[in-house]
Amino acid sequence: MYGNWGKFLRVNLSTGEVKVEEYDEELAKKWLGSRGLAIYLLLKEMDPKVDPLSPENKLIISPGPLSGTSAPTGGRYNVVTKSPATGFITMSNSGGYFGAELKFAGYDAIVIEGKAENPVYIYIKDENVEIRDASHLWGKLVSETEETLRKEIGGKKLRIASIGPAGENLVKFAAVMNDGHRAAARAGVGAVMGSKNLKAIAVEGSKTVPIADRHKFMLTIREKINKLRNDPVAGGGLPKYGTAVLVNIINENGLYPTRNFQTGVYEYAEEQSGEAMAAKYLIRNQPCYACPIGCGRVNKLPTGGVTEGPEYESTWAFGANLGINDLASIIEANHMCDELGLDTISTGGTLATAMELYEKGILKDEDLGDAPPFRWGNTEVLHYYIEKIARREGFGDKLAEGGYRLAESYGHPEYSMSVKKLELPAYDPRGAEGHGLGYATNNRGGCHIKNYMISPEILGYPYKMDPHDVSDDKIRMLLLFQDLTAIIDAAGLCVFTTFGLGPDDYRDMLNAALGWDFSTEEYLKIGERIWNAERIFNLKAGLDPAKDDTLPKRFLEEPMPEGPNKGYVVRLKEMLPRYYRMRGWTEDGRVTKEKAEELGIAEFL
Ligand code: SF4
Repeated sequence: MYGNWGKFLRVNLSTGEVKVEEYDEELAKKWLGSRGLAIYLLLKEMDPKVDPLSPENKLIISPGPLSGTSAPTGGRYNVVTKSPATGFITMSNSGGYFGAELKFAGYDAIVIEGKAENPVYIYIKDENVEIRDASHLWGKLVSETEETLRKEIGGKKLRIASIGPAGENLVKFAAVMNDGHRAAARAGVGAVMGSKNLKAIAVEGSKTVPIADRHKFMLTIREKINKLRNDPVAGGGLPKYGTAVLVNIINENGLYPTRNFQTGVYEYAEEQSGEAMAAKYLIRNQPCYACPIGCGRVNKLPTGGVTEGPEYESTWAFGANLGINDLASIIEANHMCDELGLDTISTGGTLATAMELYEKGILKDEDLGDAPPFRWGNTEVLHYYIEKIARREGFGDKLAEGGYRLAESYGHPEYSMSVKKLELPAYDPRGAEGHGLGYATNNRGGCHIKNYMISPEILGYPYKMDPHDVSDDKIRMLLLFQDLTAIIDAAGLCVFTTFGLGPDDYRDMLNAALGWDFSTEEYLKIGERIWNAERIFNLKAGLDPAKDDTLPKRFLEEPMPEGPNKGYVVRLKEMLPRYYRMRGWTEDGRVTKEKAEELGIAEFL
């Protein structure tokens, strides 16, 4: 087999048993790897109804067939598990170097089961896999954990994925962090790791990923890298200003969510844009493994030292979404989240919900005791509550449950800007209605990255679509983005390569590496299989499409108050039935027997 090793590690933390299991190429041809392999294993082995924080939940950490190769951005990995935030599947994705190193060690995935009695970490050096005591690491920040393990183990190539105090304390939006500042952040994968008493995974490998036709592969990737370098976004805006290059663009287009999505225009956007950050704080770019784009930022930390980030979402989550206009505080807040192991989008979203509840007089001073009030623009709130959330102290304990549960506990779930209880990222769907349909139908809830319709609706990739067009063409494009992203994730690449590359480019790279002769349609079929399999998992976990495939009331009933999208709501009701039909599902959003048979996954229905 090429690309994939055909081997994964199974680590049972309850029994201490470690096994290597094998699978054949037929399975790889059906699921590709990473996100695909993970949903297959979960459906086959786990009851989707398990409590996400129980030992019965499995945590799958998986690089893809192109991870660890020189394919552009070939270093990504996924963390796939049942989310404690949503109760559904999540496939949180991260860059850096950890995913590639895991591949060098000779594994396509680690399936982590059970729960250790005391804190442990997993050490992997090729065939040598050990479960080691981590009592001395418990409570440590992410950088302290990495430093301690580096000193303890040595090894120049050591790469570490770990949780911070937030994961240990089962915060519903805790992240798995790797290489210091890279995060598999969304939907609480860090809490699942914490619930297993697993503090870290340290890995070093010495193998070279097997490639079917190395010469052809090198020629192919050279061509793709050139395409990316010549693209104005992948080769221009992203390396120059990082993902925060989007701040001005999204704000000018009137969908930059401000003060908990009350409007889509932020008066201070320019002062916290990628351009402003580059002028004031940027030291250098920080690319992930084999990445020719290099959107990562190494910035001066306003309080001294250096940090990585913040990227677009974090800049927004701690800026416009809270009405804060202080880039220094935003950079500091992002750094705190990296150290404590928190998802910045959900942290910001939860604080924004608290601010709106406070503004409306629902959340009162007496609820907060001595803690700072949740006033828009109050920077004191930011750093104070980030620490309290991670440690579940005081009101932070309530916030640690996420914005939806917070708002619901005060009888007003409508003030949580979330889908399936996952806080929404930095695009108001009233300014990109296809993106709104993407939020509503995303398998892991309020997520942008698995169906980034901002690309066609705002940025013009692969071509410009009217953001307020809700025709079948728009829905067809959404299906393509959902299925294609599943392939990119399963391959082990970064979704930012879609600025410059199209479906045929991924086919070329995969065929050259894997030695297959698949058409683009055959790869997209794998993507469709992954999407449908995840949907089946969710339906079995209790997803009710009528209740769960929706958006916060604000986007359906409150027209955008100002800017280019003034007067618009999301016409979800017009799009959703057609989306179901075009997916080949029942009228009420369930995967049909015919569709499951067509995709070869009827056994899971
Ligand atoms: S584009 Fe950015 S996030 Fe993606 S692999 Fe490159 S540096 Fe990492």
